[in-house]
Amino acid sequence: MPKNIVEMEIEAAIAELPDTKTLRLKWPENYDPSFKTGQFITVYWPDTPKYKRAYSLSSCALDKGYFEVTVKRDGKMGTRIVDWAAAGDKLFVIPPVGRFLPVYEDKKHLVCVAGGSGVTPFRGFAREATYRELRTRITILYSVRTTNDIIFNQEFRELEEKNPHFKFNVTCTRLAEEDPWSGRRGRISADWIKSIATDMENTVFYACGPTALVEGTEQLISKELGLPKEQLKLEKWG
Ligand SMILES: Cc1cc2nc3c(=O)[nH]c(=O)nc-3n(C[C@H](O)[C@H](O)[C@H](O)COP(=O)(O)OP(=O)(O)OC[C@H]3O[C@@H](n4cnc5c(N)ncnc54)[C@H](O)[C@@H]3O)c2cc1C
Repeated sequence: MPKNIVEMEIEAAIAELPDTKTLRLKWPENYDPSFKTGQFITVYWPDTPKYKRAYSLSSCALDKGYFEVTVKRDGKMGTRIVDWAAAGDKLFVIPPVGRFLPVYEDKKHLVCVAGGSGVTPFRGFAREATYRELRTRITILYSVRTTNDIIFNQEFRELEEKNPHFKFNVTCTRLAEEDPWSGRRGRISADWIKSIATDMENTVFYACGPTALVEGTEQLISKELGLPKEQLKLEKWG
């Protein structure tokens, strides 16, 4: 086995939603990798070493001693993790890589577009900015079907309380008309983005999740808003 692959114990398996689970993978002794918020790890089970899948870190680079990933019940690996993974189980972990990195500059506004489980790396973005008391603005635009599908709602609301530069905005696409939700409804639109990204020059857009959502956002931003590709960072899962 190559040296950089490490076996880790699942320290905790936390149900975020009925179909979504966070795994906290405990670093072994003397393991202290250098990595960045927004990167992803690749994991596999000891009994199926050929079947490897990538998961964005939902923890941040300042969270030491463990990696957290948050997995939706989808496909073979997603189903096995959500239905079966438990504290004490072991997974092999290929260390973090990736270029989906937050640009933590004072003047920047990071507008983070996510659907469903695509919100996972943005928890890392918001955590690190809040821990470090950064002035970088971060706004999440999060599309879910109903209010029952919002991952990390409580933590994001707490981070909003602590960090005046962080906002968590949710839109629901499939709520019943009579639902008491007073927030936004409907898909993420160019008009909504424009109303949030008022200083386009200093805005960096991030879109993460299933290919359809990411490509839809890419179209919206580069075609309808006419923004250059350098201001757009994409992480496609398809
Ligand atoms: C960089 C990166 C980061 C990622 N981060 C996350 C993350 O943070 N959280 C997360 O949940 N996932 C994440 N993913 C996705 C993850 O790697 C897996 O792809 C996901 O968990 C699905 O597991 P699987 O690949 O074993 O699914 P597979 O079994 O290979 O299935 C792949 C897709 O095909 C669909 N499918 C399978 N069989 C059928 C069928 N018969 N008919 C129709 N559809 C079918 C599945 O529903 C699934 O959507 C990430 C992917 C990448 C590349």
